[in-house]
Amino acid sequence: MITEKLYEKNAYLSRFEAKVLSCEKSEKSYRIMLDKTAFFPEGGGQPSDKGVLSGAIVSDVQIENGEIFHYTDKPLNIGETVSGELDFARRFNFMQNHTAEHIVSGIVFKKYGFDNIGFHLNESEVTFDFNGFFTAEQLKETELEANRRVWQNLKVTAFYPERKELENISYRSKSGIKGDIRLVEIENTDMCACCAPHVKNTGEIGIIKFLNTEKQHGGTRIFMKCGAFALDDYHNKTSDIKAICNALSAKTENAKEAVSAIKIRLENEKAAAKELRNELIEYKIKLFDKSKSAMLLAGADMKQLQMAADGLHKAYGGVKIAICENDDGCLFVMCGEAGETEEQFKKLKLSFTVKGGGRDKIRQGSITAPIESIKKYFGV
Ligand SMILES: [Zn+2]
Repeated sequence: MITEKLYEKNAYLSRFEAKVLSCEKSEKSYRIMLDKTAFFPEGGGQPSDKGVLSGAIVSDVQIENGEIFHYTDKPLNIGETVSGELDFARRFNFMQNHTAEHIVSGIVFKKYGFDNIGFHLNESEVTFDFNGFFTAEQLKETELEANRRVWQNLKVTAFYPERKELENISYRSKSGIKGDIRLVEIENTDMCACCAPHVKNTGEIGIIKFLNTEKQHGGTRIFMKCGAFALDDYHNKTSDIKAICNALSAKTENAKEAVSAIKIRLENEKAAAKELRNELIEYKIKLFDKSKSAMLLAGADMKQLQMAADGLHKAYGGVKIAICENDDGCLFVMCGEAGETEEQFKKLKLSFTVKGGGRDKIRQGSITAPIESIKKYFGV
């Protein structure tokens, strides 16, 4: 590799000067090689850094055939010295979350023997996968233990050991790593082969929070947010819960109870509304205009439509239809003597897109069409 990796020696370097070695136009941007760089290229599950190079916006940095390329919106002159500046707030968030991942993986490996088999980090989500399953208690313990390591403010160091020295060090590693091994050591916690920038002391991580887990590929995926990501998440959740509690006129500490109460109330209201609607159907059947064949019932379910169509047919004879508007058109139930009902259903299918079916005296389903044209068809 031609480019000197400044980010390996100093993860906190956010401004630097470098010489432009090459600049080519690529599809939508310019592809630039420097003699040295503080921009971390995408790798090991971590996105590349972003920032500027003498006014040119760096949107991506990649290692291609062993060389580092910066993708910019403007060309730079070959041979010129340019000044680079990273979006360091973004990079530092990545450093916090990446170092936290080492802590958790180290603890899990030592305590449960599970390997970290996948890691993904971006601006909104950190996930990592283990080849084993945890109980809820084990997850809680792991999270607490990881945070203890944060509170102890342990040293994080990176180094390239000699080949001989490496033989005597036990470390976690992905299979198939080529070239010199860079080890990242977290005091009394973990030793892992890794190319990315990390924080210098674990205290800088602030907090390690597991948000969720999923079982997959014969193991567990953990969703986590640490440091600034976790604070952001906490802020969003706090303001969400405040908004929910304002809407429910409840104190934030009673949010769960307030939601349970409203769920129960809603179920009761639903049951009461159903009863009232059933009564309403009976009245509507009594007051039905005999010259019509259809009845419109707002908010009714299939059972209520059946009740209405059947009641109308029994009271007045002929094929009777009950409909209820939905998002795409309406639900319907048709009830009459077998032959007539079949005939009416065939006619309906010639006029609209109809899903559903039935036999003997009943046809039911849904019609996809503007409600106004459905109403016109049925004369309601
Ligand atoms: Zn790492």
